[in-house]
Amino acid sequence: MQIKNSAVSMIIDAQDQKELEEIKLQFLGKSGKLTLTLKEIVRVPSEKRAIVGQLANEVKKIIEETLDEKISALTSQASSQKKQSIDITNPGIPPSIGHLHPMTQVLYEVVDIFKQIGFQAADGPELETDYYNFTALNMPPGAPSRDTQATLYLDTQNSKAEPGQILLRTQTSNMQVKIMEKIKPPIRVIAPGKVYRVDDVDASHSFEFWQLEGFMVDQNVKMTDLLGTIDYVLKKLMGEKTKIKFATTNFSFVEPGIDTYMECTICKSNGCSFCKFIGWSEIMPAGMIHPNVLKAAGYDSQKVSGFAFAIGLSRLATLRYGMDDLRLLTNPDLRILEQF
Ligand SMILES: [Zn+2]
Repeated sequence: MQIKNSAVSMIIDAQDQKELEEIKLQFLGKSGKLTLTLKEIVRVPSEKRAIVGQLANEVKKIIEETLDEKISALTSQASSQKKQSIDITNPGIPPSIGHLHPMTQVLYEVVDIFKQIGFQAADGPELETDYYNFTALNMPPGAPSRDTQATLYLDTQNSKAEPGQILLRTQTSNMQVKIMEKIKPPIRVIAPGKVYRVDDVDASHSFEFWQLEGFMVDQNVKMTDLLGTIDYVLKKLMGEKTKIKFATTNFSFVEPGIDTYMECTICKSNGCSFCKFIGWSEIMPAGMIHPNVLKAAGYDSQKVSGFAFAIGLSRLATLRYGMDDLRLLTNPDLRILEQF
C-alpha cells in the first residue's frame, strides 16, 4: 500500500516523459520496488500468499494505469502549447493585390490627357441603330463606304425594328450626331468604348476592339487644330520622341480626311508582321467633320466647323507596351497580365 501511494503521488507530480520513465523503472523495472516485493512473496506464509499476491497485482495495475493517464495528459498538454506558440512579431503573409488591366490603364490615361485640354468624356451604347452608326455620318443605305466596316446585325425577327436596323456599333462615331443633337457648339467631347466588326482575328485585327471617338465643333476650327491635338495627345501618351505621320485619305464622314500613322514600336520601324512590314501602324482615321454630318446634327455648317477622329485604342495599347499581338489584350493568363 505504501508502494502504491508513493508511486501514484510521484507519477502525478512528474513534469515530463523522462521523469515518468524513471518512475516506471523505479517501481516496475527488473529491480523495481514492486518487482522485488513480488519476488519476496515466496517468503510469505502459504495461507496468506494468495491475498498478498492479489494485492501486489492490483497495485501493479493501478501504477500502470496512472502512468498511462499521465502520459496521455502530458502529450495533449504539449500539443496545445504548440498550437498557442504563435510568434506575433513574424511578418504576415501579404495578400495578393491586383492592378488595372493594361487596356484600362491606357484608356484612363488618354481620357485624362483629353480632359486636361478641355474635352468632356461621354459613354454610349454598343447596340446602335443603323441611322446613328451610318446614315447620320454621311453613309446612307447603299453607300460603298459601308463595305469597309463589315457589320454584325441583330436578328430583329421578333421585334418592332425593321430588319438590318439594329447593329453592334462598328465605330464609336455613333456618338457624334447623338451628342451634337443635344448640345450646341462650342463642344469638345471624347467617347471611348468597344466596337465590333466581322473580321478575321490576327496579330493586329479582331472582331471586337476599343476605340476612342473625339470631336470638336466651334467657330473657325481648322485642320491645324486637329493635327495639333493628335500630335499633343499621342506624344503625351507615348513619349515626346514618338514619330507620327499623316496621310490624306477619303472617309465619308470627314472632308478632307486624314489617316494617322505611328511608328511601329514592336520593330522600331524595321518592319514586322504587326505593322505588315511597313514600319508604321495605322491608328486613327480623322478629318474635318463633313457638312452633311453637321447638318444631320442640326448645326449650321456655314457658321461652325469641326474635326473628328477615332483612335484605335486597342492597337495603341499594344504599341504602348510593345505587345506584338492584339490577342494578348484579351488573354486572361496572369503570367502575361502581371507584366504590365
Ligand atoms: Zn512593326
